[in-house]
Amino acid sequence: MDAERPAKRKRREMATVTSGAGRCLPSKARVSRQPPPARVRVAVRLRPFVDRTANDSPCVQGLDSCSLEIANWRNRQETLKYQFDAFYGERSSQQDVYAGSVQPILRHLLEGQNASVLAYGPTGAGKTHTMLGSPEQPGVIPRALMDLLQLTREEGAEGRAWALSVTMSYLEIYQEKVLDLLEPASGDLVIREDCRGNILIPGLTQKPIISFADFEQHFLPASRNRTVGATRLNQRSSRSHAVLLVKVEQRERLAPFRQREGKLYLIDLAGSEDNRRTGNKGLRLKESGAINTSLFVLGKVVDALNQGLPRVPYRDSKLTRLLQDSLGGSAHSILIANIAPERRFYLDTVTALNFAARSKEVINRPFTNESLQPHVLAPVQLSQKELLGSAAKRARGPEEEAGSPEPPAAPASASQEMGPLQKLSSMDPAMLERLLSLDRLLGSQGSQGTPLLNTPRRQRMVLMKTVEEKDMEIKMLKVKQKELEAKMLAQEAMDPKEKENSPPARLRPLSRHTVTVAKPLKRAVVMPLQLLQEQAPSPSAEIHILKKKGRKRKLESLCASEPEEKAEEGWEPQISPELLAHGRQKILDLLNKGSARDLRNLQRIGQKKAQLIVGWRELHGPFSQVEDLERVEGISGKQMESFLKANILGFAAGHPCGS
Ligand code: ADP
Ligand code: MG
Repeated sequence: MDAERPAKRKRREMATVTSGAGRCLPSKARVSRQPPPARVRVAVRLRPFVDRTANDSPCVQGLDSCSLEIANWRNRQETLKYQFDAFYGERSSQQDVYAGSVQPILRHLLEGQNASVLAYGPTGAGKTHTMLGSPEQPGVIPRALMDLLQLTREEGAEGRAWALSVTMSYLEIYQEKVLDLLEPASGDLVIREDCRGNILIPGLTQKPIISFADFEQHFLPASRNRTVGATRLNQRSSRSHAVLLVKVEQRERLAPFRQREGKLYLIDLAGSEDNRRTGNKGLRLKESGAINTSLFVLGKVVDALNQGLPRVPYRDSKLTRLLQDSLGGSAHSILIANIAPERRFYLDTVTALNFAARSKEVINRPFTNESLQPHVLAPVQLSQKELLGSAAKRARGPEEEAGSPEPPAAPASASQEMGPLQKLSSMDPAMLERLLSLDRLLGSQGSQGTPLLNTPRRQRMVLMKTVEEKDMEIKMLKVKQKELEAKMLAQEAMDPKEKENSPPARLRPLSRHTVTVAKPLKRAVVMPLQLLQEQAPSPSAEIHILKKKGRKRKLESLCASEPEEKAEEGWEPQISPELLAHGRQKILDLLNKGSARDLRNLQRIGQKKAQLIVGWRELHGPFSQVEDLERVEGISGKQMESFLKANILGFAAGHPCGS
């Protein structure tokens, strides 16, 4: 029933994605050609009576291999008819269901495509029997595993083009928690999506399996970890959604060394409960609520897909998030709706059939998950790539360490939203530096050297690097400042006599605010620090700060004991009279003796003003005081004030041009 016509196969091959070295680059093929659609296949399986009472008659019956009818509860004269891809009646065997609906999709895994089988239906209708079965009547899971392992052994045999490997993971979703059945201690796991739309669960255990015995060795004990509880409906009713994930990885043995990965989900869904009939209370009732929520969202997802709504609520439950690439996603999907013949199941049966009928309309677009193997790069680049790989692995989850080519996907919770950035910042700086230089190197090597770190991740890394460098600078400045403060405090503590004899560094500690780099626009920010350091040789030199309060100006001495709040906007430096006189004299000397070029070194004096000053000097003789500058045409009194301030500060700080 899943036979594929050659034309269709050809179209799929054309849509094959080669995104290079396992990265998530949207290839042209992918962008320009949408993968061909594959409708979700729906089969219905009616189980036989298991506890027939004398008067019980079936409320549902098969019509042919694809259709069935059920009594219409609104009108006893009528029946409701349904048609599906397959209908398996009471007498159908496990082999019929497997061979008819599941076996045909397995080969897609070897093409690097995803496939999924979901058993749906009310509790007690036969989902677990269909999926797992019993040792006498093995279900879909053991049969599929047996065949898949056989297929991979044949296809991956020595001398064949591809080497194949199979891994398994087993999880359950219980009360909206994702639990690893192979490692029950790992707690609730997060479900993520990579940039290709693949759903993945970082941290989920993956066990390599070669033989069916390997599979049984992991699967049987893990099944016992499943959460089950007794209800009136079913003595061992499954209370969780059980998901077996089987990955088939292929590596091409010869050039062009492609690699493919196909995922098979085998899902035994928990049944939807009618709480009035199950007698569920307390925890059981809570479980039912959670299970019903998941299945309710599953229904909404199917409806949204059928109606082509822009938003499909996959994220509204863990189950639908996990099934995102199985319903309306990239998988070949088969839904097996299990129904029971007993009248007491009637409402649940109608609900299940309606859900199955809606699911039939969902269109998936399976595509081949293919990329180049990492070692395809040239030898020197191989080691670089390996370096990159190991660094990236350290920054990624453990699931990807198991060899998955998928990059980390968007984090789920709000606290994790900065995930990729946090990971980069937590990366060894030397490694980060190395990655960036490798990226630059490869970027400069033509076609083969496409950047390892693609945008926007690459841009983010560069940005992170810059931020980290700036952070370092700030930290170093703070350390320097603290050292200076400590020195000054030590000086203060010294004996006054000793102080006089001691070397000139009479630095007063600055309040934190005055040197903060975070507020560089404030007036008394960096300059006073320079000033203090440079003026140190002059023992009497002291700097004060004027605080503006409305119109009134208040003079306060700058010292460490001041509360920090005082150093706020509106502070400006004031210089001691000695320093002021010293600066003025220096400027006067320059005005009287300096050439136009020398004068241009002064703050606020450009080429034109320098020439005006030289001209005035030639005409009127030397300046007797700095204020005489006001007499020079083109220099106003207002300009004079700022000129003096800037230049005197500059001289005080030891810069000939006051810069
Ligand atoms: P579910 O998983 O949907 O709750 P189960 O698979 O546990 O239901 O089935 C309930 C009971 O019905 C089990 O005892 C199971 O062996 C039996 N059963 C289900 N389907 C069949 C079938 N096709 N043939 C025989 N027995 C079946
Ligand atoms: Mg079950």
